[in-house]
Amino acid sequence: MSQTMQTGPAQNFDAIVVGAGFAGVYSVYKFRELGLSVKALEAGDGVGGTWFHNRYPGARCDIESLDYSYSFSNELQQEWHWTERYASQPEILAYINHVVDRFDLRRDIQLNTRVIKAEFNDQTQRWHIETDAGEAYEAKYVVMATGVLSVAQVPSMAGLETFKGQWFHTGDWPKDGIDVRGKRVGVIGTGSSATQMVPILAEQAQHLYVFQRTPNYTMPAQNHPMKPDIERDWKAHYPERRKFARASGFGHNQVTNHKSGKEVSDAERRTELENRWDLGGLYMMRAFKDILTDPQVNEEAAEFVRNKIRAIVKDPETAEALCPKDLYIGTKRLCSGTYYYETYNRNNVSLVNVKQSAIKQITETGLELENGDAYELDVIIFATGFDAMTGALNRINPKGRGGVPLRQAWAHGPQTYLGLTVHGFPNMFIIAGPGSPSVFSNMVTSIEQHVEWVADCAAYMQQNGLATIEASEAAQTAWTQHVNEMANKTLYAYSKNTWFYGANTPGKPVVWACRKFSWLTAC
Ligand code: NAP
Repeated sequence: MSQTMQTGPAQNFDAIVVGAGFAGVYSVYKFRELGLSVKALEAGDGVGGTWFHNRYPGARCDIESLDYSYSFSNELQQEWHWTERYASQPEILAYINHVVDRFDLRRDIQLNTRVIKAEFNDQTQRWHIETDAGEAYEAKYVVMATGVLSVAQVPSMAGLETFKGQWFHTGDWPKDGIDVRGKRVGVIGTGSSATQMVPILAEQAQHLYVFQRTPNYTMPAQNHPMKPDIERDWKAHYPERRKFARASGFGHNQVTNHKSGKEVSDAERRTELENRWDLGGLYMMRAFKDILTDPQVNEEAAEFVRNKIRAIVKDPETAEALCPKDLYIGTKRLCSGTYYYETYNRNNVSLVNVKQSAIKQITETGLELENGDAYELDVIIFATGFDAMTGALNRINPKGRGGVPLRQAWAHGPQTYLGLTVHGFPNMFIIAGPGSPSVFSNMVTSIEQHVEWVADCAAYMQQNGLATIEASEAAQTAWTQHVNEMANKTLYAYSKNTWFYGANTPGKPVVWACRKFSWLTAC
């Protein structure tokens, strides 16, 4: 889209919010509550952000539904009924739409509108925003609720344009779904998206090939229909549960074992790991307080999971290929799935090791590996992840004071204060941005906390007649150093080939981009 498009006269708002996922929707609510004029601009043709675009089969949140929901309205949390322990994508999308309608937010959200320009005007001290529809806006505040896993990444692969079948990315899934019945399907990637999708595709496809480069650890989600007694209990104790989540390092109510994995007996350690496997999903990473800081404790948990894989997958060669080696458990985002490993016992599923021999090219009829092996495919699914944390912001590339573009300011990696603000970009707020807990936490909790911080800040500025607020360079540098120091105390620092470090996106600086590691201070 041309950046020099003719625009109409600018419309004025107190705040422009970019995006209408969980963060954008709550931002609209909060700015309206302050009595300020606000408009959210959303590129998609519906609200929901991540949950609008990631419609692949099996898409589901790996934080419990009773936790992964807004806390700002007690009426809302009391009246909404989640049908499962972990909510599916359609249910979360229905929930966000319910919230938008219940609080009459839709009238301040404009869909099908992509922001292509955002520039701070040094003279007027306001933001100038342009969209792909040729509209212009001026606003005192701009809130980047653009998501941290919102720019789908299809790796550059020779020959993709020649492929005669269909191909898709998990993060940009067609609304009407894909019919894979009777088809030969190839899934590239074995991260969270793939592990949720693979068992379901396997039931429908004629044959499913899973092209795995790096095996990751997948926990059984242990999902089940919502139990009425659990729902009743949560609803009776929501204030305490929300308070606990806010105060926890991870923004949710998952039980943490505060013991060191080293201070317990072998039998107790084994029992705890079994217990975590049975609890399912991300609970494994709360098994011991030092699971992400002590290599030995981490290895005990990793080997425990490898042995589970070996017990589930009948073919020993496939089982071994699925076992992550040289990867601390949890340092690539832990996956949570249902019947993921069991799926490899099916006759119509093949695991293809593309670490040994990489994908050389896509052909008219499928794909070919470097070693010459060829696979005939009707459908290729890229479960290859996202230009994470900074992708959506870099795409807009806002210009701050003196016209300095964000990409230039972040040339050596993202720098923020609290993950919320950037020096040189006054009145621009990022929700769950780099340097905040973000995807390392329950996103809804983190989003609420950030949006409330922004709203409190805007209220203060309005009451005191302040035109701008901006992080000082010193505060930003100190915060970024703090985040990196904390990351370096963990095992994440030994597994840098992940999207947490931007390593999955060609050309990006490999720097830690996520969180404050607040739990370390409690260790
Ligand atoms: P991802 O974790 O980044 O995984 C991408 C996969 O694609 C990796 O296995 C990667 O292999 C592989 N890959 C990339 N390029 C490749 C190539 N050229 N050839 C072969 N393989 C290639 O992406 P994701 O699964 O979409 O998940 C992203 C994040 O979204 C998750 O970590 C999670 O935070 C979030 N998510 C959450 C849920 C949930 O709540 N349950 C569900 C889905 C996603 P390498 O590892 O070798 O690079």
